[in-house]
Amino acid sequence: MTIKIKLYNTLTRKKEEFLPIDANNVRMYVCGPTVYDYAHIGNARPAIVFDVVFRLLRHVYGENHVTYVRNITDVDDKINARAARDYPELALNDAIKKVTEKTTKQYHKDVKALGCLEPSFEPFATDHIAGMLAMIEKLIEKNHAYVAGGEVLFDISSMSNYGALSRRKIDEQQAGARIKVDAHKKNAGDFVLWKLSSENEPGWDSPWGRGRPGWHLECSVMSEALLGEVFDIHGGGLDLIFPHHENEIAQSCCAHDNDKMANYWLHNGFLQVEGQKMSKSLGNFIIINELLETDKFGGKKWAGDVLRLAMLMTNYKEPIDFSVARLEEAQKILTKWKEKILNLGLVFEEKNRQEIEALGPCSKLLAALANDLDMSGVISNLHRHASGKKLHNGGRLFGSLQLLGLVSFDSMKEWQSANDKQDENVDIAYIEQQISLRLKALKEKDWAKADEIRNDLATKGISLKDSKEEKTGERITKWELKSG
Ligand code: AMP
Ligand code: ZN
Repeated sequence: MTIKIKLYNTLTRKKEEFLPIDANNVRMYVCGPTVYDYAHIGNARPAIVFDVVFRLLRHVYGENHVTYVRNITDVDDKINARAARDYPELALNDAIKKVTEKTTKQYHKDVKALGCLEPSFEPFATDHIAGMLAMIEKLIEKNHAYVAGGEVLFDISSMSNYGALSRRKIDEQQAGARIKVDAHKKNAGDFVLWKLSSENEPGWDSPWGRGRPGWHLECSVMSEALLGEVFDIHGGGLDLIFPHHENEIAQSCCAHDNDKMANYWLHNGFLQVEGQKMSKSLGNFIIINELLETDKFGGKKWAGDVLRLAMLMTNYKEPIDFSVARLEEAQKILTKWKEKILNLGLVFEEKNRQEIEALGPCSKLLAALANDLDMSGVISNLHRHASGKKLHNGGRLFGSLQLLGLVSFDSMKEWQSANDKQDENVDIAYIEQQISLRLKALKEKDWAKADEIRNDLATKGISLKDSKEEKTGERITKWELKSG
């Protein structure tokens, strides 16, 4: 293996060399969306960042040697509330189905438009209830969980190194807890594994009564089912470090008697909009779909690849301040790069597909990407190739952008044909306008002006041929492109 990948591991707070457990099956889990509402551009960030990690791993270890799991959380109290609000005429279960199906469908559409590959598996939490019940039983059996107040709770004091990921101590949590400790909890930080459902709420039968799982449990069970007890990378946004990921670790390690759940914990930084936290009340809440399909943001629709680049222009751990200016900049850069790929001689015709799709990234760009996704290094490498003059530069530019999911053969083919059409339109309109100006000059016996137009078009490779309309005897002018 020639390319060394380095990743910043939240667990150790260090950049470390990435060494997979099994290079034949590199395994990554990323917490996916809770499907109660359309995804906003903050949610787009982990989808894009971990898609780039997935693409890098596939490049280094081989397409068939990486397993990427991103779940769908389709059981959650936020979903119940939204379903009751939006479909009051339906039974709650039917309303929930409507909300989760509609939201999941839209999410798939959004991430596809952002250039994200499909993950290897996309489990739904509700398909893994049996596994959740089994994990709770194990945790109770091993004295890591207890039943109290109609809930099954995880006892955080039962785990000696609870808090290792977020570096919080149990004592600190109790001292700092603002909320009054629920009377039935042993520790303020004890969290729900299972809670009882009312007759109306979604629920599954269990030894502790009809109920539903806690959010953290879902990811512990789905990751184990698809990736095993211990896997390589676990990812998500910064806000998930505590309590979500901390509690996933607690459940998985205690259930399986392991000291680890995943070896590398990666977290993307947060995104704000024009200096402020995104929120509905501030009116700066941007839904991905609205950005792509309406002109609500900056007065025009934005393409998915532009949003993707706007996101990738910042290193993944840093915060992003999102703005129209940022989108404008990304659009300008991307347009320049695409034009350059064409100008440097790549021709997107079917007969060239295989050869073009096989183009790989520049090795220096790959080294920057493998260095904890150093996007500033990546972007400057792209600019370097875009200012080159050789076909080789075009090939590297395309190969690198292809690896990053910013272009594909098909997207460039579409771009090329749109470009060709535009060129034709502009040219034809211009030529015809010049011809009619010349005809007018000839009528007015302004020979100098007529010659000037003819000569000017000639320098652009267009020759004019005058003739007479048979019936009217009026002068007509035809044009053609001079060959050579
Ligand atoms: P949620 O559906 O809220 O659980 O979020 C899904 C994913 O999006 C999680 O990985 C979150 O950490 C991430 N996320 C949510 N809001 C933002 C934001 N403003 N910036 C970056 N990531 C976010
Ligand atoms: Zn999770």
